[in-house]
Amino acid sequence: MEKIKMTTPLVEMDGDEMTRVLWKLIKEELLIPFVELKTEYYDLGLEYRNETDDAVTVDSALATKKYGVAVKCATITPNADRVKEYNLKEMWKSPNGTIRALLDGTVFRAPIIVKGIEPYVRNWVKPITIARHAYGDIYKAAEIKIPEAGKCELVYTKENGEEVRELIHEFKGPGILQGIHNLNSSIESFARSCFNFALDTRQDLWFSSKDTISKKYDHTFKDIFQEVYEKEYAEKFQALGIEYFYTLIDDAVARVIRSNGGFIWACKNYDGDVMSDMLATAFGSLSMMTSVLVSPDGKYEYEAAHGTVQRHYYKHLKGEETSTNPLATIFAWTGALRKRGELDQIHELCVFADKLEKACIDTVESGKMTKDLALITNLSYVESLNTEDFIKAIRSTLEASL
Ligand code: NAP
Ligand code: MG
Repeated sequence: MEKIKMTTPLVEMDGDEMTRVLWKLIKEELLIPFVELKTEYYDLGLEYRNETDDAVTVDSALATKKYGVAVKCATITPNADRVKEYNLKEMWKSPNGTIRALLDGTVFRAPIIVKGIEPYVRNWVKPITIARHAYGDIYKAAEIKIPEAGKCELVYTKENGEEVRELIHEFKGPGILQGIHNLNSSIESFARSCFNFALDTRQDLWFSSKDTISKKYDHTFKDIFQEVYEKEYAEKFQALGIEYFYTLIDDAVARVIRSNGGFIWACKNYDGDVMSDMLATAFGSLSMMTSVLVSPDGKYEYEAAHGTVQRHYYKHLKGEETSTNPLATIFAWTGALRKRGELDQIHELCVFADKLEKACIDTVESGKMTKDLALITNLSYVESLNTEDFIKAIRSTLEASL
């Protein structure tokens, strides 16, 4: 078989620990034999980030802006332990945070669905994609502990010195206080990323907040979504037969549980934090969650939602056998290759991505899987494989389908 050719390079962001091991195996076994892989390689492994004073992370994000599509391996976000372990010059920031800030993007997470790994909610037959706003609210809050009686006000001072005041509370005794903010520009970007992703994946978009209680703060989110929708997206949604609707967060929660899945649920920052963990758990396993960062101007960065699986890596270093699930990382590659194929009109690349995903699903459904899935499956015939043998099993399924 002749290898599939690419025209534009993918931005390839390599990473750390066990996922770096998976990265190499996936390329060798599942990509390079079939595709003349064209990538612009950036090593986001912690050692090289440290060596370049983290410039490599910024460069990889700028390359994503230039080419439009990136695929990223999980990376270590340094903490005090890592600073010691890797003898770091500084506690470098999270690469995902740096990339997200430069692309001004929104993260969409969706589970990989296979028969035999059943969601806890029986009627969820299609994936539910969650979109979490990544700026502001309690994550950039100012807080005060109120020690004794006193008056608390919101004070906004304009540049010309003029003040606007709003009483929060007259405290009669000790209490607590929090001030949060958001930016119209950030909410607009969030809305555009969500609408674009809905068009892209042909799924309905839901957005929920608590505008009945928060008549200015949450209501502004609701209004901006509605305005952007009507001005820029309503016609495109109608043409595809998909829907945008707003509902209260409590109503959304009830509807999500009753639904069959197959839609995107956009959430404010905190709601998205909580609901994405709820959905990941309810769908079965963190190792089966995919993630894509979409910028408001349509740049894409695909990755797995999980981290570098440190515990498995230390076993691997000791020469012990590991059973690390590569599916979310493989789906990051297929997502990126399919998107590249769409943008460059290389039909075979899209077909290959579909076939590789199907080979992954068929392999698991035939009973061959990694240990994390073997522990939760309800299939009666199960063969628990190590990391390498599982990837080789996927390769056999893939080759049979080509
Ligand atoms: P993690 O890598 O997601 O792993 C947590 C646990 O979940 C693992 O120990 C393992 O459980 C299970 N797991 C996750 N992915 C799996 C897979 N593919 N196959 C099988 N089991 C899997 O989280 P962490 O250990 O808390 O974090 C490790 C490093 O990853 C940290 O340095 C963190 O900064 C980084 N991180 C990076 C990203 C990113 O780049 N996007 C995201 C999150 C975390 P068992 O040990 O029970 O088998
Ligand atoms: Mg969380």
